[in-house]
Amino acid sequence: MGKKIIILGGGTGGLVVANRLSKFLSKDNEIVLVDKEKNHIFNPSLLWVMAGWRNQQKIQKPLSILQRKGIKFINAEVSKIDFENRKVVTTEGESDFDYLVISLGASTFPDRANGFEEAAYNLYDLSGAVKIREAIKNFERGRIVILISSKPFKCPAAPYEAALILSAYFKKKRRDVEIKVVTPELLPMGVAGKEVGNMVVSLLQSRGVTFLPQHQMDRIDPSKREIHFQDKEKVSYDFLIGIPSHGLPPVLSGSPILGKNGWVKVNMRTLETDIENVLALGDVTTIPLVVGKPLPKAGVFAHLQADIVAHNIAESVKGASSKKEFNGNGYCFIELGDGRAGYASGNFYAEPSPVVKLKKPSRFRHWEKVLFEKWWLWKWF
Ligand SMILES: Cc1cc2nc3c(=O)[nH]c(=O)nc-3n(C[C@H](O)[C@H](O)[C@H](O)COP(=O)(O)OP(=O)(O)OC[C@H]3O[C@@H](n4cnc5c(N)ncnc54)[C@H](O)[C@@H]3O)c2cc1C
Repeated sequence: MGKKIIILGGGTGGLVVANRLSKFLSKDNEIVLVDKEKNHIFNPSLLWVMAGWRNQQKIQKPLSILQRKGIKFINAEVSKIDFENRKVVTTEGESDFDYLVISLGASTFPDRANGFEEAAYNLYDLSGAVKIREAIKNFERGRIVILISSKPFKCPAAPYEAALILSAYFKKKRRDVEIKVVTPELLPMGVAGKEVGNMVVSLLQSRGVTFLPQHQMDRIDPSKREIHFQDKEKVSYDFLIGIPSHGLPPVLSGSPILGKNGWVKVNMRTLETDIENVLALGDVTTIPLVVGKPLPKAGVFAHLQADIVAHNIAESVKGASSKKEFNGNGYCFIELGDGRAGYASGNFYAEPSPVVKLKKPSRFRHWEKVLFEKWWLWKWF
């Protein structure tokens, strides 16, 4: 008899798991994908939407297309996961499962940072990126602040790419705009090591972008256009772009699969949770590294982990036992806004610390990123 595999979340990880399983498994198995959104959005392109290089329609695809591949898509919000009775409850009904894959991502909570919703343009959602695009058209001069409201946040490079892209945008238009990135981090992309972090800081400085590290925000005063930090310092802005607070998707709060730091605890190589045939991957998980920090929340990890999860589930369903393991490799493009991109890659599981190298920015890397976007939206749909 076939097995029922439910995948929660049709973002990066869930999309790949569903696709891979539809290839690996015979039709008598049931693959169900649940997401509260109708469309999958390719998040790296939000920065290009912001800069006006992409239309928002071009970076998304309806998840219902997957039905063609035999994947049942349920457009519903998951309201409860009953691990004991192996059942998922959604706004469209409930269902039991043989295997469960949790790829619900990190939720963002603009309302958790005092004043954020009122004051900041949210870089981390599509409507926010569109609003930034419209607002910068008429921004003639002044101070732009890109504020990282708290750690952890997904895609450690994205706020810095946004700063570089905007600096190139305003330079081209010969507008007198000053850009600052303010963050609680010590260095950009801290887990990748000091060398990468310092190279990103140099890139920012070469563009005249000010980097203000170790600034933990306390509140924003929209009436005075000021950000107040916990150490009592203040930073003024004319235009505020924000990275909202991130947290566990509410449906998982209090769940038995969480680790001490409040995210889902998994085996770092197999992505198994402590519950049999329940696996989790991507941003919803936390994987502690030897260096004392967790694996960054990034799509590249969700993607590569999804390959492992799908392979291992398929093997288990078929009664075979050749398991694969996630090895901690990752990579990331860093868009510069002037037609070039940098490329960082390496192994995050390396000991005693991750080994990550940043390649010299080039036009080739930018085009590689463009091709990756096209490939992503073609390959999985
Ligand atoms: C601006 C920006 C740029 C980025 N650039 C890059 C990049 O260049 N490289 C990179 O590696 N990463 C990048 N990322 C990060 C990347 O998008 C995420 O790390 C990745 O998508 C995580 O995949 P995931 O499957 O864990 O979660 P997600 O892709 O976030 O998917 C989670 C899904 O779960 C759904 N969901 C959540 N709760 C529920 C619920 N209760 N019921 C039903 N559905 C629910 C959501 O709707 C969502 O579709 C970027 C992110 C942003 C915001």
